[in-house]
Amino acid sequence: MDVEFIKDQLISHPDFPKKGIVFLDIFPLLRNPVAFETLITHFLHHITSHTILKSPTKKVDVVVGLDARGFLFGPIIALRLGAAFVPVRKQGKLPGPCVSASYEKEYGTDIFEMQEDAIQPGQCVIVIDDLIATGGSARAAGELVAKEGGKTLEYLFIIELTFLKARTQLDAPAYSIVQSD
Ligand code: 5GP
Repeated sequence: MDVEFIKDQLISHPDFPKKGIVFLDIFPLLRNPVAFETLITHFLHHITSHTILKSPTKKVDVVVGLDARGFLFGPIIALRLGAAFVPVRKQGKLPGPCVSASYEKEYGTDIFEMQEDAIQPGQCVIVIDDLIATGGSARAAGELVAKEGGKTLEYLFIIELTFLKARTQLDAPAYSIVQSD
């Protein structure tokens, strides 16, 4: 029931940001406080039901959120879990020493960065974003986690474009609330 409720809030915009692309907008979900709360509760229920942790004594240490919509709900989930929130940002936006990883975009390459001391070796991490399409950005985020010695337990998304089969390229399982083909 909550999945249908969350799905009902999403709006498709044909030809955005350019002709031929159907953009799925998550912002209406954030405009409705009951829907936003449902989204957070859904993720929390999934994370704490031991499907990720596998043992009641294990915990998520770090929630990594991707630039930019992963910043909207990642910190709330981190706070509720008592975990750290760590942002992954486009190159040049984070101060201090950073680790970096490149990924392919439709036109050319982009670079993601994470602050060098953000994750301690051995920490358990979940990576979160609004949508997974080709999986390039999630894969780069996973590389950054690995470079800092963290262990990615799972990748979480509101929406997964399943026809792109991006989850097969990730180094940990993926979970999505809404699947679109
Ligand atoms: P990928 O790297 O998996 O190809 O692309 C995923 C990234 O692109 C995510 O950060 C996501 O925010 C953004 N993105 C691509 N298409 C859409 C879309 O239709 N809706 C939303 N909300 N984000 C999208």
